[in-house]
Amino acid sequence: MTPIFYDTHAHLDDDDYKADFADVLARAQGAGITKIIAVATDFASSRRALALAEKHEMIYAAVGWHPDNAHQAPADIRAELRALARHPKAVAIGECGLDYYRLPSPQGGSPAADPGYKRKQAEIFQQQLEVACETGLNCIIHQRSSFADLFAQIQPFAQRTLGVFHCFGESVERLHSILDLGWLVSFTGIVTFKNGQNIRDAVAAAPLGRFMLETDSPYLAPVPYRGKRCEPAYVKEISETVALVKQCSAAELSAATCKTAQNFFRKLA
Ligand SMILES: [Zn+2]
Repeated sequence: MTPIFYDTHAHLDDDDYKADFADVLARAQGAGITKIIAVATDFASSRRALALAEKHEMIYAAVGWHPDNAHQAPADIRAELRALARHPKAVAIGECGLDYYRLPSPQGGSPAADPGYKRKQAEIFQQQLEVACETGLNCIIHQRSSFADLFAQIQPFAQRTLGVFHCFGESVERLHSILDLGWLVSFTGIVTFKNGQNIRDAVAAAPLGRFMLETDSPYLAPVPYRGKRCEPAYVKEISETVALVKQCSAAELSAATCKTAQNFFRKLA
């Protein structure tokens, strides 16, 4: 029997899937992927993710605002986010967080613009943490080149909501500081990359029950699809590498990661 896995992070509303969406879902089901969380990046994307969830039983949505788009967000996103979060298939807030990799200056813009972008990211992240606590939903966290600031910002919320650091790519030490808070991590196809040893070290250090699997589709396709469009079916390849690193069976990994996701995304049916 094919072991069952969930893709806990996929950008299914991306234009990349417009042409062959039904095939993408069929391939996922064929690979044993039974649930997919469609993760949003702004309000329009949140509405698209919810529409997909309404149409397809296996799809659920995370509603939220990505830090890379924070500069385009209204000053206060809380009222609309609360309304989106009330949807029965809205299972998380996100993705949300801080991203200092995509500030203006590393991309050739003016360094003078960076502090304003950082401030807006922090405000939009703060509002999402507040709504997560109010609604009882957990958060999907995006962190890039911003660990210290992000870790400081989540402290006041750490006992009132939970977050998953998605696409975890940090040190084992940082992994432990996240797990010590009671929060989780999730791993993408980078775990299969030749240069992904640091991710495999983090997988080895993360106990079963404290991490989930994801593709981050359409990005980060695992080997042997590296460089191509990623899709939820490829959780299978990710799970095979993770099972090797954990020295566990596919069935054990399936049971542990699905149970972790059921506990984290409480509205998953
Ligand atoms: Zn993402």
